[in-house]
Amino acid sequence: MKITINGGHYPGRDSGAVGPTGLQESDVNCDLMSRVANYLRAVDCDVLEVQENTLSQITDASNRFGADLFISIHCNAAVDTNAKGTETYCYELGSDSEKLAACIQQQIVSSIGTADRGVKTGNFFVLRIANCTAVLVETAFISNKDEEILLADEAKRDQLAAAIARGITDYLSLG
Ligand SMILES: [Zn+2]
Repeated sequence: MKITINGGHYPGRDSGAVGPTGLQESDVNCDLMSRVANYLRAVDCDVLEVQENTLSQITDASNRFGADLFISIHCNAAVDTNAKGTETYCYELGSDSEKLAACIQQQIVSSIGTADRGVKTGNFFVLRIANCTAVLVETAFISNKDEEILLADEAKRDQLAAAIARGITDYLSLG
Protein backbone atom coordinates (compact mmCIF):
# COMPACT_ATOMS: atom_id res chain seq x y z
CA MET A 1 0.00 0.00 0.00
CA LYS A 2 1.55 3.29 -1.14
CA ILE A 3 0.49 6.34 0.82
CA THR A 4 1.45 9.95 0.25
CA ILE A 5 1.39 12.20 3.30
CA ASN A 6 1.56 15.89 2.45
CA GLY A 7 2.24 18.51 5.08
CA GLY A 8 0.45 21.57 3.74
CA HIS A 9 2.41 24.77 2.96
CA TYR A 10 6.18 25.10 3.06
CA PRO A 11 8.24 26.25 6.05
CA GLY A 12 10.24 29.38 5.24
CA ARG A 13 8.38 30.14 1.99
CA ASP A 14 4.67 29.75 2.78
CA SER A 15 3.78 29.68 6.46
CA GLY A 16 0.09 28.98 5.86
CA ALA A 17 -2.09 30.35 8.64
CA VAL A 18 -0.45 31.85 11.73
CA GLY A 19 -1.86 31.52 15.24
CA PRO A 20 -2.45 34.34 17.74
CA THR A 21 0.94 33.74 19.39
CA GLY A 22 2.77 33.16 16.11
CA LEU A 23 2.60 29.38 15.65
CA GLN A 24 3.00 28.70 11.92
CA GLU A 25 0.76 26.19 10.20
CA SER A 26 3.54 24.94 7.90
CA ASP A 27 5.65 23.90 10.91
CA VAL A 28 2.76 22.06 12.58
CA ASN A 29 1.88 20.32 9.31
CA CYS A 30 5.52 19.27 8.79
CA ASP A 31 5.72 17.68 12.23
CA LEU A 32 2.33 15.96 11.86
CA MET A 33 3.39 14.61 8.45
CA SER A 34 6.51 12.94 9.89
CA ARG A 35 4.63 11.49 12.82
CA VAL A 36 1.83 10.08 10.66
CA ALA A 37 4.40 8.64 8.25
CA ASN A 38 6.25 6.91 11.11
CA TYR A 39 3.05 5.35 12.44
CA LEU A 40 2.18 4.05 8.98
CA ARG A 41 5.68 2.69 8.32
CA ALA A 42 5.40 0.78 11.60
CA VAL A 43 2.53 -1.17 10.04
CA ASP A 44 4.44 -1.76 6.78
CA CYS A 45 2.93 0.93 4.58
CA ASP A 46 5.15 2.41 1.88
CA VAL A 47 4.98 6.14 2.63
CA LEU A 48 6.06 9.22 0.68
CA GLU A 49 6.35 12.38 2.77
CA VAL A 50 6.08 15.43 0.57
CA GLN A 51 6.02 19.10 1.50
CA GLU A 52 6.70 21.49 -1.38
CA ASN A 53 6.11 25.10 -2.23
CA THR A 54 3.90 24.52 -5.25
CA LEU A 55 0.85 22.31 -5.44
CA SER A 56 1.87 20.74 -8.75
CA GLN A 57 5.22 19.65 -7.24
CA ILE A 58 3.23 17.82 -4.57
CA THR A 59 0.84 16.08 -6.93
CA ASP A 60 3.62 15.29 -9.44
CA ALA A 61 5.70 13.64 -6.70
CA SER A 62 2.73 11.67 -5.42
CA ASN A 63 1.63 10.54 -8.87
CA ARG A 64 5.22 9.51 -9.78
CA PHE A 65 5.36 7.52 -6.53
CA GLY A 66 2.16 5.77 -7.62
CA ALA A 67 0.24 6.48 -4.42
CA ASP A 68 -2.91 4.51 -3.63
CA LEU A 69 -3.91 7.07 -1.00
CA PHE A 70 -3.11 10.75 -0.65
CA ILE A 71 -3.59 12.62 2.63
CA SER A 72 -2.90 16.34 2.92
CA ILE A 73 -2.58 17.69 6.47
CA HIS A 74 -3.50 21.26 7.35
CA CYS A 75 -4.61 23.51 10.20
CA ASN A 76 -7.73 25.57 9.71
CA ALA A 77 -8.10 29.32 10.20
CA ALA A 78 -10.99 31.75 10.27
CA VAL A 79 -11.57 35.46 10.85
CA ASP A 80 -13.93 34.39 13.66
CA THR A 81 -11.39 33.43 16.33
CA ASN A 82 -14.07 31.35 18.11
CA ALA A 83 -14.26 28.93 15.17
CA LYS A 84 -12.93 25.55 16.25
CA GLY A 85 -12.96 21.86 15.48
CA THR A 86 -11.95 19.32 12.89
CA GLU A 87 -13.16 18.86 9.32
CA THR A 88 -12.00 16.54 6.55
CA TYR A 89 -12.44 17.18 2.85
CA CYS A 90 -12.89 14.96 -0.16
CA TYR A 91 -13.45 16.04 -3.76
CA GLU A 92 -16.79 14.30 -4.12
CA LEU A 93 -19.29 12.50 -1.94
CA GLY A 94 -20.09 8.85 -2.59
CA SER A 95 -16.42 8.15 -3.38
CA ASP A 96 -13.76 6.06 -1.66
CA SER A 97 -12.25 9.41 -0.72
CA GLU A 98 -15.37 10.19 1.32
CA LYS A 99 -14.97 6.86 3.14
CA LEU A 100 -11.33 7.61 3.93
CA ALA A 101 -12.28 11.11 5.08
CA ALA A 102 -14.97 9.71 7.39
CA CYS A 103 -12.53 7.22 8.97
CA ILE A 104 -9.95 9.92 9.68
CA GLN A 105 -12.54 12.43 10.90
CA GLN A 106 -14.01 9.85 13.30
CA GLN A 107 -10.64 8.91 14.78
CA ILE A 108 -9.60 12.53 15.36
CA VAL A 109 -12.81 13.72 17.01
CA SER A 110 -13.07 10.64 19.21
CA SER A 111 -9.46 10.63 20.39
CA ILE A 112 -8.71 14.37 20.60
CA GLY A 113 -12.21 15.55 21.49
CA THR A 114 -12.30 18.37 18.95
CA ALA A 115 -15.67 19.59 17.69
CA ASP A 116 -16.92 17.46 14.80
CA ARG A 117 -17.44 19.76 11.81
CA GLY A 118 -17.87 16.73 9.59
CA VAL A 119 -16.77 15.50 6.19
CA LYS A 120 -17.13 18.10 3.45
CA THR A 121 -16.49 18.42 -0.23
CA GLY A 122 -13.75 20.79 -1.30
CA ASN A 123 -12.51 21.76 -4.72
CA PHE A 124 -8.84 21.65 -3.71
CA PHE A 125 -6.19 21.33 -6.43
CA VAL A 126 -4.39 18.50 -4.64
CA LEU A 127 -7.62 16.49 -4.32
CA ARG A 128 -8.55 17.08 -7.97
CA ILE A 129 -5.14 16.22 -9.38
CA ALA A 130 -4.09 13.32 -7.15
CA ASN A 131 -4.74 10.21 -9.25
CA CYS A 132 -6.00 8.23 -6.27
CA THR A 133 -8.21 8.25 -3.20
CA ALA A 134 -7.42 11.64 -1.68
CA VAL A 135 -8.44 13.70 1.34
CA LEU A 136 -7.44 16.94 3.04
CA VAL A 137 -7.59 17.06 6.84
CA GLU A 138 -8.12 20.34 8.67
CA THR A 139 -6.96 19.12 12.08
CA ALA A 140 -7.96 22.13 14.22
CA PHE A 141 -8.12 25.93 14.04
CA ILE A 142 -4.73 27.55 14.55
CA SER A 143 -6.61 30.89 14.64
CA ASN A 144 -8.40 29.79 17.84
CA LYS A 145 -6.26 30.39 20.91
CA ASP A 146 -7.20 27.11 22.62
CA GLU A 147 -6.62 25.06 19.50
CA GLU A 148 -3.33 26.86 18.82
CA ILE A 149 -2.23 25.59 22.25
CA LEU A 150 -3.35 22.08 21.29
CA LEU A 151 -1.47 22.27 17.98
CA ALA A 152 1.68 23.52 19.72
CA ASP A 153 1.67 20.63 22.21
CA GLU A 154 3.99 17.76 21.25
CA ALA A 155 1.94 15.11 23.03
CA LYS A 156 -1.29 16.33 21.41
CA ARG A 157 0.39 16.40 18.01
CA ASP A 158 1.45 12.83 18.51
CA GLN A 159 -2.13 11.86 19.43
CA LEU A 160 -3.41 13.69 16.36
CA ALA A 161 -0.90 11.90 14.15
CA ALA A 162 -1.79 8.53 15.66
CA ALA A 163 -5.49 9.28 15.09
CA ILE A 164 -4.88 10.15 11.43
CA ALA A 165 -2.85 6.95 10.98
CA ARG A 166 -5.58 4.87 12.65
CA GLY A 167 -8.18 6.49 10.40
CA ILE A 168 -6.12 5.39 7.40
CA THR A 169 -5.75 1.82 8.67
CA ASP A 170 -9.48 1.74 9.53
CA TYR A 171 -10.18 2.64 5.91
CA LEU A 172 -7.79 -0.06 4.66
CA SER A 173 -9.52 -2.64 6.82
CA LEU A 174 -12.87 -1.84 5.14
CA GLY A 175 -11.41 -3.90 2.25
ZN1 LIG B 1 -3.39 25.09 5.15
